[in-house]
Amino acid sequence: MSADRLSSVSKEVKPESVSLYPLGTAAAPEQELLCIFGTGDFGRSLGQRLLHSGYRVVYGSRRPHSCGPLPQGAQAMSHEAAAQLASLVFLCIHREHYDFLETLTPQLQGKVLVDVSNNPKKNLYPEANAECLQRLIPGAHVVKAFNTLSAWALQNGPSDANRQVYLCGNGAEAKQAVAEVATKLGFAALDKGSLSAAKELEDFPLQLFPEWRMPLYVAVGLTALIFVYVVIRDVVYAFVEQGKDNSFRIMVSLANKVFPIVSLIMLSLCYLPGVIAGFIQLYRGTKYRRFPDWLDRWMLCRKQLGLIALGFAFLHMVYTLIIPIRYVTGAPYSFKSIRENRTSVFDTTTAWRTDSYYSIGILGFSLFLLLGITSLPSVSNALSWREFSFIQSKLGYLTVFFCTLHTYLYGWSGFLRPYKWYMPPAYMLSLVLPSVLIVLKLLLLLPCVDRSLTRIRQGWERTDMQDGSEKPLLT
Ligand code: NAP
Repeated sequence: MSADRLSSVSKEVKPESVSLYPLGTAAAPEQELLCIFGTGDFGRSLGQRLLHSGYRVVYGSRRPHSCGPLPQGAQAMSHEAAAQLASLVFLCIHREHYDFLETLTPQLQGKVLVDVSNNPKKNLYPEANAECLQRLIPGAHVVKAFNTLSAWALQNGPSDANRQVYLCGNGAEAKQAVAEVATKLGFAALDKGSLSAAKELEDFPLQLFPEWRMPLYVAVGLTALIFVYVVIRDVVYAFVEQGKDNSFRIMVSLANKVFPIVSLIMLSLCYLPGVIAGFIQLYRGTKYRRFPDWLDRWMLCRKQLGLIALGFAFLHMVYTLIIPIRYVTGAPYSFKSIRENRTSVFDTTTAWRTDSYYSIGILGFSLFLLLGITSLPSVSNALSWREFSFIQSKLGYLTVFFCTLHTYLYGWSGFLRPYKWYMPPAYMLSLVLPSVLIVLKLLLLLPCVDRSLTRIRQGWERTDMQDGSEKPLLT
């Protein structure tokens, strides 16, 4: 630092201020000055955070003298004057107002311009906002960043759920400068590559639960279908054929039929793609070819399918617990039996069946809970890959097995009873998918099949891959 500069810095230090630097050592480094265009919500929140993190802030505004309250310590001036003072300018204005920036080309030449803008909906413009900005001011280094944070998140500071600042741009130095600011603000900067990634970053805040959409549609569709099925079979049938009004059963009994059925089907849907992928790899003799898109998409939402299935299993458990409370209304029948001195013979087989049904159900639900807990990022991050795959795969299939057995025990001899209007009981429908899944998994576990699949997954390829000639699947 030159002697002139040192003296100017020391002149700025007020006599009553307390220096954090021991006397006699180097003076405090001058705080970097950053410029923000736009004094709206985002600009003010960003300015406040920058000031709290030790930067100086100057605003460029259309109305520097009447732009409303600014964070304490910030100054407002015209765009031209503000841009000249800083080498890094945050553009906190909407894209539709970018045109005026062309008039500032001389002042913005060589500067790092941080584009924080988002659009109200996807594909509103043919090119990304950041690319449009780069085209308007070719001499500047445009970096897309901070757009995935809200003004609120900026004001409150980084939290665990909102720590990342994604950035992209064509200049390595410009990106580095923005990454340093983000880090100083307490965020983790994640480089997403060149400016061509800007569109992806701009679409990011517009996403609405993308990985949950398909599993939720499946859950809603299945629930509606099964509900209509059980209402027809248990309520409409009784009304039409026997003149009985069973509609009161809808709220608890039928709901408690629908939840476990949807849960078991969705749990099977969670594990089925893994088994299908295994058969595809065996058929192709390699793991290096992409799966079909539909399977890729299905595999990507397995966690969500599993968590929704767990939610339905939880509902089933709660409804099962309240059923005895509800059947207190059935107590008069017990008293009647006592009064009439009627006894029923204790059936050991039925007792075995009922106890096994409850016990296997409880075990299945406990394992199901374990799967759900270990899928939480904070828990899964603490597990080794082997531990995670042991729980999610081995214990996962065991959960499918227990839940399927629980349903078979529920059915017991009911499989042989005549159907109402040719409609089998709904629980039978729920058994189709898990039974198929278990059979397919057992096939994959056969030692000769398992050996081939393990080799393929370790990178081995069948030698006839190029000539395409038929060879036996198993080696
Ligand atoms: P805002 O409250 O409407 O502020 C926009 C600012 O732009 C105004 O205060 C104004 O500042 C300036 N401006 C308005 N019209 C202009 C014009 N014709 N020419 C030049 N400047 C003009 O909007 P915001 O919520 O702060 O958002 C600003 C940018 O940040 C947007 O691109 C938005 O997509 C992005 N963003 C916002 C959030 C958020 O949570 N709000 C989150 C992520 C990204 P002056 O009056 O001082 O000139």
